[in-house]
Amino acid sequence: VDDDGQVTYKKRPTNEIMLAIQLGIQNSVGNETQRPYRDLLTQDFGVLEIVDFPRDGGKFTVAHSITSFTFKTYAPMAFRHFRKLYNIDISQFLASICGEELEELSNPGASGSIFYRTADDNFIIKTVQHKEAKYLQRLLLQYYLTLTQNPRTLLPKFYGLYCYQCGSKNIRFVVMNNLLPSSIRLSEKYDLKGSTYKRRAGSSEREKSVPTFKDLDFKLLHENGLFLEADMYNSLMECISRDCLVLESFRIMDYSLLLGIYNLDQAIRDREASGLLSGRHTAAAAASSSQDPVSFEMETAAAAGGSTSAGVENRTSGQVGLQRGLSVKRISLFNTPIESINAERARDPVDMQLDEEALFTSGGIPAKNSHGDRLFLFTGIIDILQSYRLFKKMEHAMKSIITDGDTVSVHNPRFYSDRFQLFLKTEVFKKQPDASEPQESLSQ
Ligand code: ATP
Ligand code: CA
Ligand code: CA
Repeated sequence: VDDDGQVTYKKRPTNEIMLAIQLGIQNSVGNETQRPYRDLLTQDFGVLEIVDFPRDGGKFTVAHSITSFTFKTYAPMAFRHFRKLYNIDISQFLASICGEELEELSNPGASGSIFYRTADDNFIIKTVQHKEAKYLQRLLLQYYLTLTQNPRTLLPKFYGLYCYQCGSKNIRFVVMNNLLPSSIRLSEKYDLKGSTYKRRAGSSEREKSVPTFKDLDFKLLHENGLFLEADMYNSLMECISRDCLVLESFRIMDYSLLLGIYNLDQAIRDREASGLLSGRHTAAAAASSSQDPVSFEMETAAAAGGSTSAGVENRTSGQVGLQRGLSVKRISLFNTPIESINAERARDPVDMQLDEEALFTSGGIPAKNSHGDRLFLFTGIIDILQSYRLFKKMEHAMKSIITDGDTVSVHNPRFYSDRFQLFLKTEVFKKQPDASEPQESLSQ
């Protein structure tokens, strides 16, 4: 926030950045659709498309109300193929990003990046450092190869890399898949690395309505971990192993598993409690609620106010949406965690209540906590644009390795990956021993 009370990033007002992003992407997509689709060539990965946006409008650009700027699209042809790989229709991409205002998210990270989420929940836009953008450019061809071989993955899906240049300032950003649906009120959210060193959410983070907790918080709150049915557990672990091998091969580290937990039974309890409080707990209400435990949580982002700030962060518990029977808008085939890990849906949908089915449709991975509460997990790997090479330069200087032995999150990629996997496989996710009697087997 600057002296005039305006929110800025690199001294640019964030609302100008948002508008520039929208104008830039709209133009970039327009250019793209004019070109015929063709096979990808190696040189496509090195292309940089540069367009000037004078305030009064240019030959190919519209007039606008913000400071004149230049917009750059990295490897447009390559990203076009990425989007195709994930069944993202270009008109939908355009509508998601440019159709409505973007919602700025508060970032718990230390990097100072700004995050935007599209109103329809489909995409996240994250500003990245120069080094990270360079790294992604270098990585792109190999990353593309990896994803083509194995589209079922929890690795981030990058749908575009751009740069907004205004004066001497360059603001680079990526468009990627959104992992946490804002239409579902998550009970908890974790950023997990498998490290314990400084891995506890800070006090300002804790004050948020849904804070992003870290490894140590998880250990405290879920001492026994989260229980998955055997098949689900195996699919998830296989997926994580494969993804980690890829990251290790790229010598990437310091990534996290982002994990959002929706607690279905807690939501039901909360609602019953709020029903009691407000005196709505009549027999009729109880009857209708028993058929309808979840849909009160289910709203489309648009119904929730979309571009306004009425998203997850600001919703208080007990506040209920009125939309019924709406499913979460999802356009990408592989965006949902359940599809990412290539798992069969565990239970017969016919057995499930209608609203639970709606949650399934939104793609959460079914799990239970140690109390037997039914959970749906939303998860994926994030923040992968840091390679060991960059790290060594940065962090060795800080002497963090010496201070805390093997619990420091800065190590070589092999060590990082092993520790990350071990933590997830043994402490975060557990195989449910007996699906028919989960209660007994859980309470040791
Ligand atoms: P740092 O480098 O300090 O760790 P950063 O600015 O690089 O932070 P990330 O680690 O990428 O940021 O992400 C910060 C937070 O933003 C995450 O903990 C998560 O809450 C949210 N976030 C990041 N990526 C996504 C995504 N794809 N979908 C939903 N939320 C995301
Ligand atoms: Ca991070
Ligand atoms: Ca980062």
